[in-house]
Amino acid sequence: MRQPYRLKNKRYGRFAESTLQMQYPFLDLSRPEFPWNQQLRSAADRVIESGRYLHGPETEGLENELSALCNTERCVAVSNGLDALRLIFRGYIELGRLKPGDEVIVPANTYIASVLPLTEFGLIPIMAEPDPYTHNIDFDKVDTLLTERTKAIIPVHLYGSPAWDSEMMRSLKEKGILVVEDNAQAIGAEAATPGFRGSRTTGGLGDAAAISFYPTKNIGALGDAGAVLTSDSELADMVTVLANYGADRRYHNITTGYNCRMDEIQAAFLRVKLSYLDDIITARNLAARAYDAVIDNPAVLKPLILPDEKQVWHQYVVTVENRDKFRSFLADKGIGTDIHYAVPPHLQPCYKENLKVSLPVAEKLADRIVSIPIAGISPEDSRIIGRIINDYRP
Ligand SMILES: *Cc1c(COP(=O)(O)O)cnc(C)c1O
Repeated sequence: MRQPYRLKNKRYGRFAESTLQMQYPFLDLSRPEFPWNQQLRSAADRVIESGRYLHGPETEGLENELSALCNTERCVAVSNGLDALRLIFRGYIELGRLKPGDEVIVPANTYIASVLPLTEFGLIPIMAEPDPYTHNIDFDKVDTLLTERTKAIIPVHLYGSPAWDSEMMRSLKEKGILVVEDNAQAIGAEAATPGFRGSRTTGGLGDAAAISFYPTKNIGALGDAGAVLTSDSELADMVTVLANYGADRRYHNITTGYNCRMDEIQAAFLRVKLSYLDDIITARNLAARAYDAVIDNPAVLKPLILPDEKQVWHQYVVTVENRDKFRSFLADKGIGTDIHYAVPPHLQPCYKENLKVSLPVAEKLADRIVSIPIAGISPEDSRIIGRIINDYRP
C-alpha cells in the first residue's frame, strides 16, 4: 500500500492542505520494490563494521568511479552540490583565476544554488535567458551578455538535458572564460559535441563541474552528498584543501577553509546506486518517450527529445496554460506534480533588490512549467498519465 501523498508546497492555495491518495505520486523515494534496497543495507553494514566513517575506501572508490564516468582526471567527493559549487568558485579565487567583481553568466531559470556561490564570493551573476523549448541557457543570446569582465559561465544541465553549444564554448574558451558545469541534475547525460575532442559526458565537458546527490536527484544519497569533477589538478588540490579546513596536511592551514567532507556511508550508498545508473537512465528515457508519443494536447507543450544527445530526464517538464487548473485536474485523478522552479533566483526576496533585471522568458516559463512524474514511472504508467493529460482543457 502506498502512503497517502501530501503535496507539500504551501504556496499553491488549495494544494496546500490536501492529503490525497495519489496513485501516481510525483516522487516516492522509499519503494519496497527498488532493486538496490538490499544492497544499501549491506553497504551500511559494511561501513558500520569498518570503523572508517570518513575518507575511507568507499569515498575513494566513488571518486574513482565518478571520474571514470565523466572522463576527468580528478574527483573530490564533498558534502553536497551547493558546497561543490562553492568550493570550485572559492578555489578559482584562491588560485587567482577569478576575483571579486568578475562577471559570471548563469541561466535565470536555475535553482538558486547555482547563484548563491557567486554572490557569496563577490562575483557578479549575469542572468541569461533560457531557450523556451530546451529550458537551457539560450546560447544565441550569450554574446549580448559578454563584457571584458566576463570570466566564467555556468551551463546548468537543467532537467537532465545537456546545456552545450560547442561553437559557443570554443569561442568562450578562446576568450579565457571558465566553464563551470552545474551537473546536479544530469549525471550520465551526453552532449552533442561536434568538433570537440574528449568527453561528451556532462561533468567532463567544462573546466570543472559540480554534482549533487540530494536524495531526489537521479543518483540520490540517503542524505546530502556532492562531488567536484575536474581535470585541473591545481583546482582539485585547492578544492581538497578548502574542503578540509584549508589544511594541505594535518594541522597546517594554508588558507581559511571549510569542512565539506562526504560521509563514508553516503559514498557506500552512492556506489550501489551508481551501479544502476544505466538502468535508471533507460527507465527514464522509456517513460519520457512514452509521454512524448501519447501526449497530444494543444494546451500542453512537451519538452524536446534531442536526437543527438543523451538526456537523463531528471524532470519531465511540460509548459501549460492555466497551471493551477492543470495541477488540480491531475491531482483529482491521483497524479502528483511539482514545479521546478516557481520563483527564479532574481525574484527571490534575497536577490530582488540587488539583481534588478527583467527576464521575460524565464519569468513566463516560471509561471507555466509543471513537472509530471518521471521517477519510477513505467512506460505503461506514462501512457495512462499521458492520456489523462490529453483530456485537460485549460
Ligand atoms: C540540487 C541542485 C543543486 C544543489 O545541490 P544540493 O546537493 O542540494 O546542495 C545545485 N544546482 C542545481 C541545478 C540543483 O538542481
